[in-house]
Amino acid sequence: MTLVHNWQLGRKMEYPYFESRPERQFAAVFNTNRCIACQTCTMADKSTWLYSRGQEYMWWNNVETKPYGGYPQHWDVKSLALLTDNGKNPTTWSTENEDKDDKKSPYGLYEGETIFEAAKTRNLNQWAVGYIPTDKEWRFPNIGEDTAASEKMNDELKLAQEVSVLPEHKRWFFYIQRLCNHCTYPGCLAACPRRAIYKRKEDGIVLIDQKRCRGYRKCVEQCPYKKPMYRAQTRVSEKCIACYPRIEGKDPLTNGRPMETRCMTACVGKIRMQGFLDDNPKNPVTWLVRHHKVALPLYPQFGTEPHIYYIPPRWAPRPYLRQMFGPEVDAAIEKYTAPSRELLAVLQLFRTHQAIFFEYRIEEGPKVYETTINGKKWEYYDDTVIGLAKDGTELVRLKVEEPTYERPKQHLNSI
Ligand code: SF4
Ligand code: SF4
Repeated sequence: MTLVHNWQLGRKMEYPYFESRPERQFAAVFNTNRCIACQTCTMADKSTWLYSRGQEYMWWNNVETKPYGGYPQHWDVKSLALLTDNGKNPTTWSTENEDKDDKKSPYGLYEGETIFEAAKTRNLNQWAVGYIPTDKEWRFPNIGEDTAASEKMNDELKLAQEVSVLPEHKRWFFYIQRLCNHCTYPGCLAACPRRAIYKRKEDGIVLIDQKRCRGYRKCVEQCPYKKPMYRAQTRVSEKCIACYPRIEGKDPLTNGRPMETRCMTACVGKIRMQGFLDDNPKNPVTWLVRHHKVALPLYPQFGTEPHIYYIPPRWAPRPYLRQMFGPEVDAAIEKYTAPSRELLAVLQLFRTHQAIFFEYRIEEGPKVYETTINGKKWEYYDDTVIGLAKDGTELVRLKVEEPTYERPKQHLNSI
C-alpha cells in the first residue's frame, strides 16, 4: 500500500498504487431534483454498447429509485454493511476545526476506514472489502421503481403525519442516476490481478483491457458501486467506457470537439452536464463541484474518489442524504433552494449542446423579480450565460429568464 491524498475525505489514505492524477478528469453533475426516471439515458447507453449476446442483463447506466431500488439489488446496503462491519468501523466525519475552503479538505475530515483500509485491518486476502452479487441480484434493473418510504404509523389517525412539506417529506423517494464513476482510486483497478484495468492519463477514464482480462471478477467484487459486469458469452468483464470516441472528438457532429457521452446528451429531464474537472474555476463542472460545492460525490466514504456528482434532492430525509453524499449535503441543498445569481446562470447550460463546455461567461442583466426564501430576501436577475468550447468558440448563449411566445390569434385553439 502507498499513501495517496483523497480530497473528498480531506486526508491521505492507503491505496495499492501511487497517486497519479490525469491531466483533466472525466466528470459529470446530475441534478437529482429534476430527473423524471424516463430511462432515456439507460436506453441510449443500451442501444449504443449493450445489445449483443451475453449483455442482456448489462446496464452500464441505470436509474434507480431510492431508498428501495438498486441495480444490482441491495448493492448500496451490502457495500455499506461490509464497510461499516456492524458498527466496528464508524463512518463518521469531523467538520469541526477544518478549513473547508482548503482545496484539500472541502467537506471536512473522514474519520472512518475506506474500503481499502478496512480490507487491510481485517487481514482479508484482497485489496478492498467487497462481494460478488448473486445472479438473482442482477435480474431486475429497476426493481422498487417509484416505491416510497414512509413514516406512516399503524394508527390510522396518524396518517396526517405523512404530509409532504419541505424541508423533509414524511413519504418520499427520489431517483439516482448511476454509471461508473471513473474514480481516481478505483476499487476495480486495485483488485485486478491481471492488471487489465487502467486509468487514462489524458482524461481519467477507467477501462478494462478486454485482451488481458480473464474474467476472474475481482473488479466486480471490489468496486463498491458494482459497475463492472461479467459477460458469460466472452468470459471477460466489461464496464462503462465513457463513450471515449465521443470524448476524443471523433464524432463528426461536433467538428472534432470533445462531445458528451450518449447517456448525457439523451437526457430528457436536462439534469445532466458532463465535462472535466480541471484547474479552471470558470469551467462549469469544476465550479459546481470544487468551488460552489452544490454537487457532491456518491458515498465518498468508500474512498475511491468517484467523479459523478449529484445535486441532492431537496425533500428526502437529511440523515439518509448525509450517509449518501457526505456532510456537505445540508449546505448544498440550501444553495440549491435559493440559488445564487451565478448558480442560476450555470444551471441554464445543462443539456443545451452536445459538445463539452470548457468554460462559461456571464453577462449581467436587469433584476426582474424578488421574493423571500427561507426568511431571506432573494433576487432574480435576467443574466445571460455563455457556454464556450475547448477552443473558446461560443457554443450557446442563454437568458436566465425563459423567453415566452404568444400564439397569434388565428392559431388559437388549433393544434
Ligand atoms: S465506479 Fe467502480 S468500476 Fe468505476 S472506476 Fe470506480 S471502482 Fe472502477
Ligand atoms: S434521461 Fe435524464 S431525466 Fe430521464 S432518467 Fe435519465 S437522467 Fe433521468
